Amino acid sequence: MEVLKSPLENFGGELFIDGVSTVKLAEIFGTPLYVISENKIRENYRKMHAAFSKRYGKFRILYSAKANTNISVLKILHSEGAYVDTASAGEVYLASMAGFSSEEILYTGINVGDEELKYVLSRGVMVNLDSMSQLNRLIRLGVPETLSFRINPEHGAGYHKYVVTASKHAKFGMDEASALKAYEIVKAAGVKRFGIHMHIGSGIMDVTPYLKPGERLLKIASKINTKLGISFDFINFGGGMGVPYKPGEKELDLEAFSGKLVELFKRKLDEYSLGKPELWIEPGRFIVAEAGILLTRIKAIKQVFHKKFVGVDAGFNTLIRPAMYGAYHQVVVANKLNEKPTEVYDVVGPICESGDVLAENRLLPKIFEGDLLVVLNAGAYGFSMSSQYNSRLRPAEVLVKSGRYALIREAETFEDLVRKQRVAEWLE
Ligand SMILES: *Cc1c(COP(=O)(O)O)cnc(C)c1O
Repeated sequence: MEVLKSPLENFGGELFIDGVSTVKLAEIFGTPLYVISENKIRENYRKMHAAFSKRYGKFRILYSAKANTNISVLKILHSEGAYVDTASAGEVYLASMAGFSSEEILYTGINVGDEELKYVLSRGVMVNLDSMSQLNRLIRLGVPETLSFRINPEHGAGYHKYVVTASKHAKFGMDEASALKAYEIVKAAGVKRFGIHMHIGSGIMDVTPYLKPGERLLKIASKINTKLGISFDFINFGGGMGVPYKPGEKELDLEAFSGKLVELFKRKLDEYSLGKPELWIEPGRFIVAEAGILLTRIKAIKQVFHKKFVGVDAGFNTLIRPAMYGAYHQVVVANKLNEKPTEVYDVVGPICESGDVLAENRLLPKIFEGDLLVVLNAGAYGFSMSSQYNSRLRPAEVLVKSGRYALIREAETFEDLVRKQRVAEWLE
């Protein structure tokens, strides 16, 4: 029998999430369908916030919106007191729609153009940049009140090379010499509040990979402080805190994680006389991954030579993590939780590519067309990385909370495939 963690439960062999039957949700809304639990989002936020803030009061979580940009998700986190970390003008727009004020939004731009920078300046949000070339572009257009730079602390981490975002080979961040120059320029330009930032990677399960880069970040902060007389309002250690995807994998130990990071932070603040800046982190995955699942209906079962395939209606257009990162997602049969697993299957989608595999070699109960599969831990980088490839429609999203449910995004329709297309006049 499958081992399930909150917000998932087994009621008479049927999978429930936050008090709602997944079988019923699939009947009402169709499949594929993303479902996310409000209680679980709040629980994750609160346990992370509690672990840090009891050790250092001036602590803030910036939810990294790109993990899941649904406005309802953003609203939940806003109501918890989170700020938000955004990766594009579009995310700044969505965060504003969800009720975040400009002082609560941090924009981290990577290689962006004037139009995006103009938009960001016009919204008055906090800006985080990572190159001199972007800085020069920005200050021709205007000067934000609050600014930070993303440092490349030379050491990164992550579960796949695509998600390591700091190292001497990564495209992200600035080295010490450029950072010093950049802070000098923006001080002269009239920036009022300063921060400093790093983000080393994603899916990291313990604190160790943060310590060396963290030390490096604080050392660079101290140099900026002594050489330029800049004092920091916030020091931002970025996101990347991981969640277990495989059954039996251990959770991140929040006590040890926050304990060691805060210990380093306080010790270095003291050593370098950096005052009492706020300590910021930017988790995305940690907050929403385990809160969300993907429901997908079995449409075909076939055996090719010795391999058994289950064909479902969600593919890498719906959830790209397995295809893109070789990521593992647990799969359960929502309507057969009490049945013994007896057969090994590959779970594959409807996309015309051999790489369209959601799960490989999974031991599942005997299943048939029409059974409902559920992909677990799909709340982060699921819908937000989905596409219309093969002209397949993006699915609906549903929010559940203590037995209630609400549609928070309609499924796309065929009109969405042509909505922004124009036919060249000579083809009409
Ligand atoms: C993606 C990203 C995050 C969040 O990463 P997670 O692994 O989801 O925690 C935080 N900060 C920045 C700058 C990012 O690009």
